[in-house]
Amino acid sequence: MEVMHAPGNSVSIISTVPSKAPDRSVKYVFRTSDRATFEAVQLWEGEHQAYSVCMSAQAGCRYGCTHCATTFARTPFVRNLQAEEITSAVGQLEEHVRAQQGPLVWVDFAGVGDAAANWTHVTTAAKAILGRELARHVKVTSIAPQAWVRNLLKPKSWLPDRLMFSLHGANAAQRRVVIPRADDPSTVLPLWATVAEMRPVVVNYVLCEHNTRPEDETALTRLLAPYAGCFSILRLSSFNPVLGSPLRPSTREAEFIAALTRDLDGWTVSHHLSAGRETAAACGQLRAEILDLAPPAKRPEL
Ligand code: SF4
Repeated sequence: MEVMHAPGNSVSIISTVPSKAPDRSVKYVFRTSDRATFEAVQLWEGEHQAYSVCMSAQAGCRYGCTHCATTFARTPFVRNLQAEEITSAVGQLEEHVRAQQGPLVWVDFAGVGDAAANWTHVTTAAKAILGRELARHVKVTSIAPQAWVRNLLKPKSWLPDRLMFSLHGANAAQRRVVIPRADDPSTVLPLWATVAEMRPVVVNYVLCEHNTRPEDETALTRLLAPYAGCFSILRLSSFNPVLGSPLRPSTREAEFIAALTRDLDGWTVSHHLSAGRETAAACGQLRAEILDLAPPAKRPEL
């Protein structure tokens, strides 16, 4: 295992894995001074001819999403990352990138952990990242619980440049199959739409067997129709299978995508075929792989 120490910084890179796929991504595992681990992925954004970083907000995660490798790791949650640890990790990756192209195009808090659950440290780190010009933009991906979104909507709250919120179900029960702590979509969507008046917001929906049936096309269309023109896009994401997950990839992705594209007037619908399928770059996959954080023997029941 490659070990790189960064004197004076609170985190060190303990592993670097260049992608085998021709996508120029580089995956890193960091270790903190108290031996917590977290990961970051340097991604090539071909459209921008620049690198971005997918950054973790926590060492592990408490949310327990059933499509996520972090949930099935032996140490699913350790602790929140400190702002200095996040900034230090981004600074180390940015050094690698700057020599070739200059600052990172953006840092996206879409790695292990949810930024919403460590918001004080994430916002402090984000401001430092932008202030030191380590990246041009900061994005945040979250399950977007309503208490956190209400805080975002308070006057003078700091907001990232862009956000992506995870929906994954047309009603509360279906959403909770993927995100056990999820709020009812009918409660959070009006709040999400208010955020979308201030910043571009993508709504993400992972395509699984249980939420892409013909009746789900109708339910999702009905749920989202009132929000035509509010959000940047509806991003339909192919499920990136992870060891231990009880979820199954959808066998009718193409029909589902076609139906939503046809029926959702005023929405831009896009399909994202996860790069993680080739590179094991989904949340927590790298950390689990490098540190041999084996999944539990028993698969949880849905
Ligand atoms: S998908 Fe994100 S929020 Fe959900 S368990 Fe994984 S790291 Fe946590």
